[in-house]
Amino acid sequence: IMAPFFGNLSSAFLVWRPDGYEVLIYFIVNLLKITTYKSYTFVPICFSQIVSKGIPMHARMIHSPSGRQSQLPYGTKGQYILSVDRANLNKELLTEAETYANTKLNFNHKLQDWSTETGLMTFARLDGSKAQVQADLIVGCDGAFSAVRKQFLRRTRFNYSQTYIPHGYMELTMPPNNGEFAMKPNYLHIWPRNTFMMIALPNLDKTFTCTLFMPFEDFEKITTGDKVIEFFQNYFPDAIPLIGVDALKRDYFRLPAQAMVSVKCSPYHIDDKCVLMGDAAHAVVPFYGQGMNAVSKIHLY
Ligand SMILES: Cc1cc2nc3c(=O)[nH]c(=O)nc-3n(C[C@H](O)[C@H](O)[C@H](O)COP(=O)(O)OP(=O)(O)OC[C@H]3O[C@@H](n4cnc5c(N)ncnc54)[C@H](O)[C@@H]3O)c2cc1C
Repeated sequence: IMAPFFGNLSSAFLVWRPDGYEVLIYFIVNLLKITTYKSYTFVPICFSQIVSKGIPMHARMIHSPSGRQSQLPYGTKGQYILSVDRANLNKELLTEAETYANTKLNFNHKLQDWSTETGLMTFARLDGSKAQVQADLIVGCDGAFSAVRKQFLRRTRFNYSQTYIPHGYMELTMPPNNGEFAMKPNYLHIWPRNTFMMIALPNLDKTFTCTLFMPFEDFEKITTGDKVIEFFQNYFPDAIPLIGVDALKRDYFRLPAQAMVSVKCSPYHIDDKCVLMGDAAHAVVPFYGQGMNAVSKIHLY
């Protein structure tokens, strides 16, 4: 099995089966060392541990260009979606998986290739060495740019399509203000601006993860710290003091904007040797907040 989030979850489900498997999970990085935050919207399904550590968001909080805020509820009174800290979620799932004697976690293993005939997988390790492992069943949970899926593409009658949207995304952090959330926490904050938008989700440590979605060509026009501030003054002026001028100037250039792709394919499996799951099988763009929900639901049903 390859990787988080879905990889963790699917491994957990597989080991819970009474007939059992020897489950080997391979991760490209050491997840337990990842400290960056990424909050995710999550519609509560039945995972009580996840729900108890999520922050309920009862409504969207719409920020106008003048800074005026108005609420748009998600449903009737008492209904909400959750903001879930992905790093914590991964840790919880890994901790659970580790309690099973038949499960082994292997970090810093990047899948390079595998054989549909023999099930032999070749991994590159961090130190440059290679590892080869044979499996009866390979579960490809390695995301929208799946390496497991490459073997499927070499086969006849495999349907595959991928579509990049013109938008990219970038994450920025809004720190706590005097130890408290800088904005009201029980909302999904949105700054809608026609062809682009920023959203902010609350985290347990009282930060907000802000995500700026914008066409790549607009990201590329902003080339200096001063241009970042000018852009924010034009479109998200109320967010500037909350994120901070210096942080904005610095963090905007920390990583380039990331691409978003949707993927469709069929079939999802090669005989009884390999199955694709999660984004490897059906990636969707994040605007509906459904990728992770889809992943969980497949297992439940
Ligand atoms: C900006 C953004 C916001 C989103 N917001 C939401 C949201 O609010 N709610 C929601 O439900 N969904 C959301 N999604 C979608 C959600 O992130 C995905 O649907 C979900 O993470 C899919 O899980 P996965 O395990 O299939 O893939 P991933 O989470 O992508 O995990 C795949 C893993 O495989 C590893 N990997 C890749 N190649 C290899 C290799 N060769 N060898 C070993 N490991 C490998 C990667 O390192 C990665 O860790 C969002 C997506 C994006 C991009």
